[in-house]
Amino acid sequence: MRLTAAKSNALDSNVPLVVLLVTAGKTTSLPGGTLGERALALMGRKVFEAGMRETLVLHAEDRSGPRALLLIGVGAAREATPDDFRRAGAIAIKEAAKLKADKVIVGTGGKAAFSAESLQAFGEGAVLAGYRYSQKKPTSAPAKSVGIVSDVKGAASVLKTAMALGEGANIARDLGDMPGNVATPRHLKTRAQAIAKKGELKFRAMDRKALEKAGYGGILAVNQGTSEMPYLVEMDYNPGKAKHTICVVGKGLTFDSGGISLKPSAKMEEMKYDMCGAGATIGLMHAVATLKPKNTRVIAIVGTTDNMPGPSAYKPGDVVKTGSGKTIEVINTDAEGRVVLSDCLHHATKHKPDAIVDMATLTGAILIAIGSEAAGLFCRDDKLAARLQESAERTGERLWRMPTYDVYTQAIKSKFGDISNSAGREGGSSTAAAFLFEFTNGIPHAHIDIAGTAWNGPKRDYNEDGWATGYGVRLVYDMIANWG
Ligand SMILES: [Zn+2]
Repeated sequence: MRLTAAKSNALDSNVPLVVLLVTAGKTTSLPGGTLGERALALMGRKVFEAGMRETLVLHAEDRSGPRALLLIGVGAAREATPDDFRRAGAIAIKEAAKLKADKVIVGTGGKAAFSAESLQAFGEGAVLAGYRYSQKKPTSAPAKSVGIVSDVKGAASVLKTAMALGEGANIARDLGDMPGNVATPRHLKTRAQAIAKKGELKFRAMDRKALEKAGYGGILAVNQGTSEMPYLVEMDYNPGKAKHTICVVGKGLTFDSGGISLKPSAKMEEMKYDMCGAGATIGLMHAVATLKPKNTRVIAIVGTTDNMPGPSAYKPGDVVKTGSGKTIEVINTDAEGRVVLSDCLHHATKHKPDAIVDMATLTGAILIAIGSEAAGLFCRDDKLAARLQESAERTGERLWRMPTYDVYTQAIKSKFGDISNSAGREGGSSTAAAFLFEFTNGIPHAHIDIAGTAWNGPKRDYNEDGWATGYGVRLVYDMIANWG
């Protein structure tokens, strides 16, 4: 989908669909030709009151002007937030698909107006609603071109940002929605490689042999039970003379059976989504490569394998040596994400970054604790946490800060190794985070547990129930872009 800044006369042109965002209250004129006049009359009679997300569709009877007009309310009782505009963008594009409109022009009426922030949000919502899963023939086609009329300075560049972020999230969603036999570790690697090549990022993938050479026994242990090749993938955006370096780490378990500590059958098919942290990281790098933030080098690291109970599978009681030299006593083979991440995080520290942010569908416990409305933020560095919380505010990808007390570190002390990979169910998300902190060597580190938000996430018009959300792309990009 292409988003462009359009001139105001486009609202009266003969396009398949014009969308107007309107607020309640007295409106004296609306663009959209005769359809605009009819809409105005209906507003006057209070048939349409422009309440938040309220819609009205009018179809043209004559041959001049737009073929259809869609009004979307953006506020009566309260002021519209950027997320309201993001939802409006999705509503517009879903309606366009129903009307088979390949071209859409968007504007505002009455007191409604775009700011740079709400314009970007609207554009993101539009691109997100244009997502179509690549592995099945879609039942409808999204609009190809969306022109938006606004008074925003630099609208074209704002829309470019919206497009890149929406596309990045859609890449993450598509990788997530693909089954584990298609989105294999090799597939993730190949997809990351293609994005790196197109965006001129440096790319490196360590396969089993390279991982063995580096002594990365964590990811290798998890990989023992499968015939798939594991990879540690690195995508490096380096603008030159960068003032800061940020490492983003993603968990890429392309299918998590639990291994020897096998999961129950119910909903096990959803475990194809256990690579959504990797998906978001790869999608993020599409946005980074497209938008080229200044001053900040961004290195993405994805650890990918699946977790299967094959004949050589790692077992409870095994003690494995990670790349950092620390040993892990395996209590539960289903707590494999942290075992893979131990090597990825250690690998990240070698770049001596200013901060490490990891995204991982790490624990079912986070879903029990806070549901799917927000991801869990675990961070012992208040400054880094504050940056992410501000980004969460701005992007509508919510975060809730979770406890990171020292007692959680005490709880994972191991009798037979340095640390154990499970301390049981109580505080499960916090003990998992404490485990990860053991591998970042004091570098400011934020762990984002996206197990509740990555699929079946927050109920929004731009998310689909039962599908991946691409959560984290907008959030982490915003943090990078505002790093300074
Ligand atoms: Zn698991």
